[in-house]
Amino acid sequence: MAEGATFPKIARCGVHTMANVPFDKLGGKLWYNGELVDWDAGRFHILTHGLHYGSCVFEGERAYGGKIFKHQEHTDRLFKSAEILGMDISYSNKELFDAGYESLEAQGFTDAYVRAVAWRGSEMMAISAQQTTTHVAVICWDMGSYFDPEARMAGIKLQWAKYKRPSPECAPVHAKAAGLYMICTMSKHEAEANGFNDALMVDWRGYVAECTGANIFFVKDGALHTPTPDCFLNGITRQTVIELAEKAGVEVVERHIMPEEVSEMQEVFIVGTAAEVTPINQIGDIHYQVGEVTRTLLTDYHNHVRGI
Ligand code: PMP
Repeated sequence: MAEGATFPKIARCGVHTMANVPFDKLGGKLWYNGELVDWDAGRFHILTHGLHYGSCVFEGERAYGGKIFKHQEHTDRLFKSAEILGMDISYSNKELFDAGYESLEAQGFTDAYVRAVAWRGSEMMAISAQQTTTHVAVICWDMGSYFDPEARMAGIKLQWAKYKRPSPECAPVHAKAAGLYMICTMSKHEAEANGFNDALMVDWRGYVAECTGANIFFVKDGALHTPTPDCFLNGITRQTVIELAEKAGVEVVERHIMPEEVSEMQEVFIVGTAAEVTPINQIGDIHYQVGEVTRTLLTDYHNHVRGI
């Protein structure tokens, strides 16, 4: 950590809305199929393909000080995810890039979570979706820390998940697609029921993979070790943290990591747009301290996204 820098103070938990009202009652404006509409107009019919058959891709972004962090990369990934699922987005990359800012500005936010989502509509109701059109929305809301802020700074607890990340032969693993989150929610619920904050999943081969909505890093003898993203999302935050670590002179090793190795690690943290950099103090029954490398990268990321 640079001299004089302070460990950032994190505000409230952002999973629930600021006022603790349901998301459909938040109010304001959102971008829906090419125009800004009232919050209440952000609806679709119950017979929507995306809802029944998981034909839905999305992005999670954050705006800091009026700038959506790595907005172009996220917009590109939305198009890539749609392409992988064979969904045709009828807006241009620039139109959806601009939609992010239109939605943010219509809400009057400078700091917010930005959710772009594309899904197949209700023209056809069968597994085949050849006649459906793709709908797109971009919605912004006020979001603080993804995890409880106090728990987050002390480090959160991970439970091993029962479900595994599937092989690329079993699912479109590089798409940010809604259907891939079914096992994430189930794993997260089980972890929370057992007093943990999140679940850590292995992949189909048994290698350590990622958490339910974030990538994972380990510190061992001063170097960063992180699983090779060959069957899960190579997160934009993950890529950013690797760059920041290299800039800070920390060696980064991308490799397959076995669960047995976790007990040999000195520090652990997870990264994602929502999670940002979140220290881990427990995996199963193994405990960790929040160490210097984690604290440095947490602060570096906090500053980097704000252009500091
Ligand atoms: N893995 C999963 C399953 C996720 O949901 C996310 C969050 N999008 C990530 C990793 C991290 O991705 P990013 O850093 O691009 O937000």
